[in-house]
Amino acid sequence: MNAIATRHASYDAVVIGARCAGAATAMLLARRGLRVLVVDRGRPGTDTLSTHALMWGAVAQLDRWGLLDEVLSSGPSIVRSTTFHYEDEVVRIPLKPRDRMPGLMAPRRYVLDTILADAAEASGAERLYGVRLAELVWSGSGRVGGVVVEDTDGRTARIRADVVIGADGLSSTVARGVRSEAYRTGRNASGVVYGYYSGLAEDGYHWHFRPGSSVGVIPTHDDLHCVFTSVTAERFRSEIAGDVAAGFEEILEECSAALFETIGRAERTSRLHGFAGVRGFMRRSFGPGWALVGDAGYFKDPITAHGITDALRDAELLAQAVAEGSDGALARYQETRDALATRLFEITDDIASYRWDLPTVQKLHLALSDEMKREVREMNESALV
Ligand SMILES: Cc1cc2nc3c(=O)[nH]c(=O)nc-3n(C[C@H](O)[C@H](O)[C@H](O)COP(=O)(O)OP(=O)(O)OC[C@H]3O[C@@H](n4cnc5c(N)ncnc54)[C@H](O)[C@@H]3O)c2cc1C
Repeated sequence: MNAIATRHASYDAVVIGARCAGAATAMLLARRGLRVLVVDRGRPGTDTLSTHALMWGAVAQLDRWGLLDEVLSSGPSIVRSTTFHYEDEVVRIPLKPRDRMPGLMAPRRYVLDTILADAAEASGAERLYGVRLAELVWSGSGRVGGVVVEDTDGRTARIRADVVIGADGLSSTVARGVRSEAYRTGRNASGVVYGYYSGLAEDGYHWHFRPGSSVGVIPTHDDLHCVFTSVTAERFRSEIAGDVAAGFEEILEECSAALFETIGRAERTSRLHGFAGVRGFMRRSFGPGWALVGDAGYFKDPITAHGITDALRDAELLAQAVAEGSDGALARYQETRDALATRLFEITDDIASYRWDLPTVQKLHLALSDEMKREVREMNESALV
């Protein structure tokens, strides 16, 4: 049987996974002159489980990489305020434009991930879709030295690499292959149901909280809003999973009767998507000849809508470390990531517990906001690219 055709037999870096973490990492490494191959078992230009909300850190990263104009040209709604609803108390925070950034935004993943993957290719990275990691190749010294990949026709290729990067999401095959252990795990997880609606006038991000549940309304592309409901994973399993449409309505009404009525007048344009919840983790994300980035190395509950922002930040940190070319630099990558992310992880886990009253969740949101400001400041100060 023919082998999969790749341009080279050997690469400086092979990246597994071509969404926000993998495509961004491949792009940054290629821009530094490394020979990069990025493979994804999926198809290009597709959506994935996500409610799309970007925080300032992600928008700043896109700007720094010269991709913000392209994202803006794709026409996402510009988010100029974020509003927290604690039952009847409403806290609206206007978002002022910053430098070239008009506001926040929540681009659909088939838009954002495609822009990143196209930029990786334009920067010189080679990319292949419909190709999965079949196994890691080990060199005699206990170092990962490459990969065997396989396409949907069963054709394979054995490829050498100085470093193999797992950007292959929550259930990372690379993490499993290198036996990476989680050294920090969350205690809580939330289950989410979301869908897309037309005809909603809400501007900006809206986050509604009530003890036991939350709802978010996020404007994205094509004048659509992504509306999600969230409860504990236990409640999701016992009350929602059997009938997500009924569960979605129940949580919506419980969390905000006014929003329930508004959504009732809008048109749902998609099916409802469900996510049963996974506890957060931080996994060892480097070793001889390998590294993990994005959800593969560090996952936290989606309730704080920060996973894409994490992925873009860590792509930049990892690219810097790989370009330095030492195992010590990879160790520092994990240290820096954790210094920026551990409090975010803990706060998110507390919010996902749903064991709070409204004053407590408000305090958690203020702490989250402080941490996100610190994250942006420190990334700007290090100006890595
Ligand atoms: C319900 C929900 C809502 C969310 N909402 C938000 C939000 O509003 N804002 C936000 O910032 N974050 C959100 N997140 C989190 C965000 O979606 C993730 O953090 C983000 O997708 C991580 O990106 P990634 O590139 O690391 O992994 P992924 O997006 O999971 O991409 C991994 C890629 O690897 C590929 N892959 C996997 N295994 C292999 C293999 N063996 N070989 C080849 N390819 C492989 C897959 O095909 C996939 O394309 C949400 C998550 C969930 C579940």
